[in-house]
Amino acid sequence: MPAHTGTQLLLLGTAGGAATYPVRGAGASARSGIASAIVVGGRVHLVDAGQGVARQLTFADVAGAGPAHALRPLRAVYLTHLHSDHTMDLVNLLHCGYVQGWPDAPVDVFGPGPRDGVPGAPTDRRRAGAHLGTTRFLERLIDAFAADFDDRVSASRRPEPSTLVTAHDVLPPAGSADVSAGIPPVDPWFVAEYPDLRVTATLVDHGEMLPSLAYRFDTEAGSVVFSGDTSPSPNLVRLAQGADILVHEVIAARYATWQYGPEPLTERQRLAAATVMAKHTPSDQVGAIAEAAGVRTLVLTHLVPASVPAALWREAVRGFSGEVVVGEDLLTIPVGR
Ligand SMILES: [Zn+2]
Repeated sequence: MPAHTGTQLLLLGTAGGAATYPVRGAGASARSGIASAIVVGGRVHLVDAGQGVARQLTFADVAGAGPAHALRPLRAVYLTHLHSDHTMDLVNLLHCGYVQGWPDAPVDVFGPGPRDGVPGAPTDRRRAGAHLGTTRFLERLIDAFAADFDDRVSASRRPEPSTLVTAHDVLPPAGSADVSAGIPPVDPWFVAEYPDLRVTATLVDHGEMLPSLAYRFDTEAGSVVFSGDTSPSPNLVRLAQGADILVHEVIAARYATWQYGPEPLTERQRLAAATVMAKHTPSDQVGAIAEAAGVRTLVLTHLVPASVPAALWREAVRGFSGEVVVGEDLLTIPVGR
């Protein structure tokens, strides 16, 4: 496969939630778990690491160097939040990257900082103590796989896996975001800079999963924003102002019907559907967000449920005057005109 050239948005997996759909027949979807990337200067900046990410990067083969080297261009990972459908295969990426080697190691892994680092966030043990941030998350992953890593280190005489990655906890600047009365307006803040890429972030609203982040990537060719998981978010609109591409999560406006079948729903089903809907952006509202942000292209991803046909996602978008792209696994979109 030829190497990717120029600056590109690469969709690796486009399913939201656990990717457990049948591959054929009724309700089928072959979509992998949520993961996307910006490819710039031949390097991969990965946003989220859902189910199948290492395999999808292998299929994408950004460097055109073949499957045994397909993970080598990885430069950095950006986790939007710590839900498992966004992080499930991070450890697999670490295993595969360990085998292939990362020329740019340590690979930077950015993600939300600890919950108690956000003023006003719940502090009880169950809700605060469960979220210790990305640095601890990565340490725990490496700990959990110690038996395997130990064996590989002694067999290969390579460095410890922990030396291959550098974790970074991302939080709003101190004092800028008290969330005791909900997600407040926040100025986008600086996260990282590379020679060909600058990264900023904001706080979005994903219910109890706090903190949840959206990221903006500015390159010489253009800019791309990833919403992460969020209900309609004024902070996201602000972060995405004038971007070339907005990659936005979406849930079917008729989610309950897709998930549970025709009415009437049981009380439990109705409550479960309402809870999920409140944390995400319905497909008939995402167009207005892209319009308010003034972006050129809206890319729908994190499709929930993933089994909804592409044509129906497109039809659901209202009030956006730009181009709409329904995300597909392994789709690449050039950044810039
Ligand atoms: Zn989520």
